[in-house]
Amino acid sequence: MTILILGGTAEARQLAAALVADGVDVITSLAGRVSTPNLPPGRVRVGGFGGAGGLADYLRREHASAVVDATHPFAAEITKNVVEAASTTRTPLVRLERPGWEEHPHANTWTWVLDAAGARAAAESACRPFLTTGRQSLRDFAAWADRDVLVRLVDPPATSLPQRWNVILSRGPYSYDGEHTILTEHAIDVILTKDSGGTHTVAKLDVADDLGIPVVIIARPEPAPVPILRTVAGVVAWCRSIDDLRFVGASIT
Ligand code: NAP
Repeated sequence: MTILILGGTAEARQLAAALVADGVDVITSLAGRVSTPNLPPGRVRVGGFGGAGGLADYLRREHASAVVDATHPFAAEITKNVVEAASTTRTPLVRLERPGWEEHPHANTWTWVLDAAGARAAAESACRPFLTTGRQSLRDFAAWADRDVLVRLVDPPATSLPQRWNVILSRGPYSYDGEHTILTEHAIDVILTKDSGGTHTVAKLDVADDLGIPVVIIARPEPAPVPILRTVAGVVAWCRSIDDLRFVGASIT
């Protein structure tokens, strides 16, 4: 049995580890956006497939028994492509997606917007924004060359940024104390983020509430028309259900 995992998230790595531990042949696919990715156990391939057609060809070539879309909630293009490719090739598909932050105790105090342009409009009066919406959204904030923007990225930006901007290069998880230091030292007056969900990057939102810093948050895109499971254990059980595998021993949490 071969499972293709579309990855790029912590959950995708955890899933690969759980399936490999149970003897499943796993291929994790990464887009190649990050220069030194955290690699999961099992086989790994890197780079785009060339659209839904290329992904369908890949599923056929690898005789994939099933595909798990464990990409980031905001990776909408690959999610759309895999729905089409799985349908064309009749490959069972499920999506592994962590819950968003709409249940966070302070979620109703945040300004929810639809996209980066909406986030910029909502935070237009800020002088010292903290931008954590990712490298691909930077161009949407280019008009903010007139203020002290703090940007946090995993890799350096592809193009030069306005002179007044500062960049922090780092990868989560982030602690409450670390985020408190960043927000106070840079006198941040608004945080702009995406509804990524999970625990790795939530600390800034906890600190924001304690310090009274406003949060502007980009809502997730419309969910894809596929079954969504919230836990790694749930997806492992789903993989078992589509094949008569003898899973041995390993505990899956
Ligand atoms: P996207 O806009 O949905 O995808 C753009 C193109 O990148 C896709 O059409 C596909 O190219 C390629 N691609 C994306 N994910 C891929 C994967 N796992 N394996 C192979 N090719 C992939 O994706 P994105 O938002 O740029 O995200 C890229 C990767 O970064 C994803 O794996 C995602 O899980 C991860 N990530 C994204 C975010 C975010 O905020 N968007 C945050 C953290 C991690 P082809 O059409 O050529 O196949």
